[in-house]
Amino acid sequence: MFPNDRYIDYWKRRTGHATTTVFTTRGCPFSCEFCSNAVFGISYRERSSENVVDEVEQALSFGYDRIHFADDVFTLNRERVLKICDEIRRRGLRFKWECLGRVDSIDEAIANAMKDAGCDRIYFGIESGNDSVLKLMKKKITMDKARRAVHAAHDAGLTTGAFFILCYPGETDDTVLETLRFAVSLPLDYLSFTVPYPLPGTALYERVKGRILKEWEAPDGLISDHVLIFDADFSENKMKFGILKGEAQFEMKKRFGVYSFPVMKPFEILTNIMFRLMK
Ligand code: SF4
Repeated sequence: MFPNDRYIDYWKRRTGHATTTVFTTRGCPFSCEFCSNAVFGISYRERSSENVVDEVEQALSFGYDRIHFADDVFTLNRERVLKICDEIRRRGLRFKWECLGRVDSIDEAIANAMKDAGCDRIYFGIESGNDSVLKLMKKKITMDKARRAVHAAHDAGLTTGAFFILCYPGETDDTVLETLRFAVSLPLDYLSFTVPYPLPGTALYERVKGRILKEWEAPDGLISDHVLIFDADFSENKMKFGILKGEAQFEMKKRFGVYSFPVMKPFEILTNIMFRLMK
């Protein structure tokens, strides 16, 4: 009943791939302070590897050639991920797929198994480049784990992406700048910086709900999609400047690689000073 041909046509024209989503789990047992997992809950439920790959096979039979595993944390149960990879290979299915992973559930062995089974991209929620801020966020990961995971995925040949939150309540100028430096130092192909959003239902919302200024609404800005909705420790302009600064440093690194130092260092020093001077 679903107009698959129209979706496939749209995605092929837009990205060159016919992509669809599959959920293999529901929920996440972690309680990161900012996270919207109130939607699927903290009770973690899994589908069996056979059941997951049956659905993948059905999607492929409709003409899709790429699967986005849209679970909160696809890699949470290592044995289950290995079983899904085995099942994909056992059935001889040829398609590309991507997923979201936690940095504490990826190592070289699992990254290689995923690559062998057709995975070509993984996204990590790293969020901060400072261990105290990671604790404040209740992420239950460390910078060291994040670095190891990104390197493991990169070395296995996966395209790597990561998400970071800048200017989280409780941060200082120093920790924000550390996050930017850490993010740019990782072997990432894609990264995203955002401002903190205290979503109703999250522990972060409870912490700052007395400071909420407005409801989130679709942004109309040309430069940035980010909207500050609470009275934060940093001004909206400072947050946006931090995001643009991080994106510029990341682009320089991508463009010039190991030769980026002479361009990036003066830019970093100058923009660090500007960032610290902003309210
Ligand atoms: S951020 Fe990720 S690991 Fe943390 S609660 Fe949300 S889904 Fe789970």
